[in-house]
Amino acid sequence: MQVIPSICTFCGVGCGLGLRVERGRVIGVEPQSGHPVSQGQLCAKGWSTSFAIDPGNRLTEPLIKEHGKFRKASWEEALQRIASEFRAAQQAGGADAVGVISCARATNEDNYAAQKFARAVLKTNNVDHCARICHSPSVTGLARTLGSGAMSNSVADIDQAELILVIGADVTENHAMIGARMLRAQARGARLIVIDPRKTRLARLADIHLQLRLGSNIALLNGLLQIIFKNGWENAAFLAERCEDITPLRQHLAAITPEQTSAATGIPVAELIRVAELFSHSPAAFTAYGMGITQFQSGTNNVMAVSNLVLACGQIGRPGTGVNPLRGQNNVQGACDMGCLPNVYPGYQKADEPAVQEKFAAAWHTPMPVTPGLTSMGMTQAALQGDLRALMIIGEDPVVTDPDQHQVARAYAALDFLVAFELTLTETAKLADVVLPAAAFVEKDGTFTNCERRVQRIRKAVAAPGSARIDWQILGELAARMGYAGMAWDSAEAVFDEMAALTPLFSAMSYAGLDKAHGLQWPCNAEHPQGSPVLHAQSFPLGRARLFPLTQVEPAEGPDAGYPFVFTTHRFHFHYNCGSMTRKSPLLERETPAGLLLINPQDAAKHGWHDLQAVCVRSRRGSLEVRLQLTDDLPPGTVAMPYHFLEAPCNRLTNDAMDPISKMPELKACAVAIEPLAAGVVPHNPRDAREVPVYASL
Ligand code: SF4
Repeated sequence: MQVIPSICTFCGVGCGLGLRVERGRVIGVEPQSGHPVSQGQLCAKGWSTSFAIDPGNRLTEPLIKEHGKFRKASWEEALQRIASEFRAAQQAGGADAVGVISCARATNEDNYAAQKFARAVLKTNNVDHCARICHSPSVTGLARTLGSGAMSNSVADIDQAELILVIGADVTENHAMIGARMLRAQARGARLIVIDPRKTRLARLADIHLQLRLGSNIALLNGLLQIIFKNGWENAAFLAERCEDITPLRQHLAAITPEQTSAATGIPVAELIRVAELFSHSPAAFTAYGMGITQFQSGTNNVMAVSNLVLACGQIGRPGTGVNPLRGQNNVQGACDMGCLPNVYPGYQKADEPAVQEKFAAAWHTPMPVTPGLTSMGMTQAALQGDLRALMIIGEDPVVTDPDQHQVARAYAALDFLVAFELTLTETAKLADVVLPAAAFVEKDGTFTNCERRVQRIRKAVAAPGSARIDWQILGELAARMGYAGMAWDSAEAVFDEMAALTPLFSAMSYAGLDKAHGLQWPCNAEHPQGSPVLHAQSFPLGRARLFPLTQVEPAEGPDAGYPFVFTTHRFHFHYNCGSMTRKSPLLERETPAGLLLINPQDAAKHGWHDLQAVCVRSRRGSLEVRLQLTDDLPPGTVAMPYHFLEAPCNRLTNDAMDPISKMPELKACAVAIEPLAAGVVPHNPRDAREVPVYASL
């Protein structure tokens, strides 16, 4: 048995693992000892990696749909079909009639190739990926306040923090090794404060839990800042030396009282004052936040409100401090870094700057697109309007993961042509005209970047099944067929080296350098050859950081007589995103039943409902049949559903109201009604009718 060093493919923590390989198959995993993030441990998901990548139901050959059914095809036929369909779409609708959705699970090399294919071959900036629906407000919000949208500090900084503030993040469930580290910090004496509308496991274990009203984040953060300024607890020296625009924020907050904040958030005044005092007086406060901040129509402003609080108290730029967005997918940081966003090239070089366009045109030997690109949601809307005709989706399943699932399926059905690169026949792949079998992470070399900006090597451990190919190779072959020879790399390392040469944040990185330690954290360049565990020590990318006066924005849909409950989404520890990988593990699958709607016992008692009562939950966009699970994790009036289960796809209910800046849909809040099913009726399970495509019922 061989053990091949690699990185966990689930969440953005980026734990180090060893793939146990026997007779050409990954039969198990083990933690990497001495890994700086995971410290010789893995969570339940990490330990189950071998189930997730089992070749059992993998796609092994290209598929082409004819008369509504897939048939096997050769690579030659499939690639030719894709090339001609994309060219036809562009001849009919112009360069921007096509788009690429890349993948936060794929390697940096795959993502670099995806955005290069979009820009150099298709001549469009229509390239995006699922960061749009998790942390796009972190990218836009922190870009405005600091100039960089990534974690400012490292996971190891938790060990040096005196206070840990967690806002809208269910860390023990979703970033388990970080959650464990926070609890160890608390055990050695650090204070742990959790701000969350749900009583998460971490909230129950915290020293202070502020159980704010769902969606009142800006009101709460403004209220804490108002108390800090009123009492003179701000870090005046830091503000004077490092920040701009303090006076407008002070004036804006002067109109707020703690009583108003308490009324808006549901948090008693004494608790507000206590948290404001502790945070502002802490020698080192580490602030982490998650999608409970970002997945709102006010997502960018929510992130900027977090930034205001951190900056006003000078809790950044030192070990044990910082503003730290906990990224979701294993390589969502990397997909952003590689420029799989419509507005930036690799390393956040701005796509609308002529100098950047000229730089990449010279390097890639072809003119660059100048029109602004569409986000993934923008591409959905453009498809519905007939403006987007062909779409390439690499390893993502938007039909399950995007809001208002029916609308996404309608949009894809309206396209002239859809191609999916996939491991298995996902719900999105079922809608495609051509499906290409892709290699999984254990079948290729490359790099992933974790949430603390650490770029780490993964290595090929086993052969891909059948004729499955690596994403960057597929894109290179397609590029050649479409007349562009600049993507004919012969190795993942060659892709990485090209990217590093064009990206100042990565210019001193190489595979050899990454191999010497457990990866390197960007920026890694001539100034920081060993990488950068802590950002913003001397200055911000903007020079001086900016403070912004912000006003509370309520969720687009509040409860009313017709839809009296507030609905939110969450995750369970044992599953990952749409469950396409973790649900292959019988060990994980037995832990969490599917099709549950969590509700407070008081609400259930008021309506005479019991635990496991079969109900229909309905929003303005769709309905689901599920069973109730009574729990005081949620306050009365709020219900919640995890989003891992195809049996109960919660995105039939969620709202696509958007943050106007980042285009993040409001996945965390909408209004629903609940009606009990007749006695003895078993909830209808959409999985029972899996073979019926979702669009067939439209
Ligand atoms: Fe994998 Fe995340 Fe668990 Fe680490 S914490 S083992 S990266 S799922």
